[in-house]
Amino acid sequence: MTTPILSVRNAVKRYGQVHALDHVDLDVADGEFLTLLGPSGSGKTTLLSAIAGFIRPDEGSIHLRDREITAAPPEQRDFGMVFQGYALFPTMTVRDNVAFPLKVRRRPAAEIAARVTECLALVQMEQYADRMPQQLSGGQQQRVALARALSFKPQVLLLDEPLSALDKKLRADLQWELKALHDQLGVTFIYVTHDQDEALSMSDRIVILRDGKIQQQGAPGELYNRPRTAFVADFLGKSNFIDVSVSSEADGVFHCQAKGAQFEVDAKGASASQVSRVALRPERLRLAEPGQEFLPATVKQVSYLGERCQVIVTHDQLGELLVSCPTWKTGINPRAGLPVSIGWDRDACVPLTND
Ligand code: ADP
Ligand code: MG
Repeated sequence: MTTPILSVRNAVKRYGQVHALDHVDLDVADGEFLTLLGPSGSGKTTLLSAIAGFIRPDEGSIHLRDREITAAPPEQRDFGMVFQGYALFPTMTVRDNVAFPLKVRRRPAAEIAARVTECLALVQMEQYADRMPQQLSGGQQQRVALARALSFKPQVLLLDEPLSALDKKLRADLQWELKALHDQLGVTFIYVTHDQDEALSMSDRIVILRDGKIQQQGAPGELYNRPRTAFVADFLGKSNFIDVSVSSEADGVFHCQAKGAQFEVDAKGASASQVSRVALRPERLRLAEPGQEFLPATVKQVSYLGERCQVIVTHDQLGELLVSCPTWKTGINPRAGLPVSIGWDRDACVPLTND
């Protein structure tokens, strides 16, 4: 990474016995779309609040480029913010809401008027300038909040679950828009969500938090394809887990023994002595007529989802496995009770290390 725009060093925040932040180190690149992803209570809001200046870490430091800002109040950091509870001012029009950060900064009236128009256009809300917030839908209010956060051209925009109150379809539309806005403006985004699809679809890099610690970070594809722990494999997408013992290793391939099954797994850099489990994504399993693949199984349940169907199959020793199959022009038509066979490629499994 070139010189990061923001760096968090060894940040600790305790609330009684709870480690909301447990020695967090994080560098954010200039212009990056970085997402903090984790379950509820994992420390996402705490980390973002420390970056914003709403809370001060008990230990550690935060730098904005060369400047230490650990103790600086929020207004001296000059970050744009779209927070869950950081709603629009209810007694101001849309125009005045967006103008507010500029008025506080005592910008000239003509500049404010021009910038407000520009920002409302960015989020396609020009025609709503004279409305009051309560006359807007939830999605429109979030667009205005975004325009307000961008009005003073911050270097960094902090967003805490800005889409979580919206319905699924609208959320998906706004994900596209947010990503497009990011690419267009080149502003650094630090985005908090507990929604894995949101994280996967928008981010340049995802940082996965658990109990105040960074579990793993990387580009969406990297994390999805190469989770290091069962927690990450399970939190980001769906996974089957198979307990294995590695009986031998040759040329980067593990020979694995599982209950009632033997198969090969690409080592992908893992060391045999640390691996006792592999993760297998449901879409990487193949479902076929009996005898065609290497493991016999029986269909237990089928859930039709339109573009795909999810099939639970049972294997005598391995137990239940989830298979995700396309529904269009596929050979097999799974239904409960059907005997089938299942298989996968050597590079489909990911060796996991213990959490
Ligand atoms: P997230 O945003 O990932 O859901 P938070 O950062 O809000 O998680 O919280 C992390 C942990 O710190 C949780 O266990 C939460 O209960 C605790 N916590 C957060 N803020 C406070 C506070 N003001 N007082 C006490 N505990 C807090
Ligand atoms: Mg939160």
